[in-house]
Amino acid sequence: VRARLPKPDWIRVRAPGPGAHAETVDIVRRHGLTTVCEEAGCPNIGECWSKRHATFMIMGDTCTRACAFCNVRTGMPRPLDPLEPERVAKAAGDLGLTHIVITSVDRDDLADGGAEHFARVISALRVSSPQTTVEILTPDFLRKDRALETVLASAPDVFNHNLETVPRLYLSIRPGARYFHSLRLLQRAKEIDPNVFTKSGIMVGLGETREEIMQVMDDMRSAGVDFLTIGQYLQPSPRHAPVVRFVPPAEFQSLRQIGMAKGFALVASSPFTRSSYHAGDDFAKLQAA
Ligand code: SF4
Ligand code: SF4
Repeated sequence: VRARLPKPDWIRVRAPGPGAHAETVDIVRRHGLTTVCEEAGCPNIGECWSKRHATFMIMGDTCTRACAFCNVRTGMPRPLDPLEPERVAKAAGDLGLTHIVITSVDRDDLADGGAEHFARVISALRVSSPQTTVEILTPDFLRKDRALETVLASAPDVFNHNLETVPRLYLSIRPGARYFHSLRLLQRAKEIDPNVFTKSGIMVGLGETREEIMQVMDDMRSAGVDFLTIGQYLQPSPRHAPVVRFVPPAEFQSLRQIGMAKGFALVASSPFTRSSYHAGDDFAKLQAA
């Protein structure tokens, strides 16, 4: 058993900020929604919820996959809730979100992987909050023909699918997934809808090398990916994959510069970067530029 690495001082537990934290809790609970903020034990929850930013995780709180980095429980999920799209739309309105990120558990048990449900959520949001930009962070829809087409037909503004790590580590970190399938999913998203922004991200600190990160960036650019996120992997519990290395902030900064030089339109890279962290602010800045 590998000893746990001590956390460096740039990785600090961050207390909830003042502001609207309690209101966000209330809105999430009132509409009976699941958030990835809570399920993943996200370190940014204090900051984000105090600004009324929450990322909803649809299709339940139980995943059919068991990624070695992820805190979401694995098992046989419950049937889909047909009223969830409405509840998400109402909560988005109550929070006053100008940009919403919707993610989900993986639903290998469903014939379409949950694509139709994703589309219903987007449609409900378009009706209730027409000014809100919508970003979806989807599963890989492995062996789910036409799922990607179904999701994109509902015209999200940003299509996000995380590669999570470098290909060499897939077997141990993301065992149910295939690197080249995920990469091709991103590429196909752009082929199907050239107007959608595509986005992907990786965690660092899992044992990848700098050269491997460069290769992933190049692969993403070859697949036409527009936005990149890079964040520090944090081990949710002792039964999850260990942190091999805490990457210093200066290295994140250097990765950001390299990413921009490689042609990404947006690169968020810092120890606490997550797919949805400041996603709305970054997207708004890009649109205003
Ligand atoms: Fe939630 Fe994303 Fe903020 Fe984490 S970074 S608390 S997942 S909105
Ligand atoms: Fe977690 Fe997503 Fe992997 Fe499921 S597919 S275990 S939700 S990272």
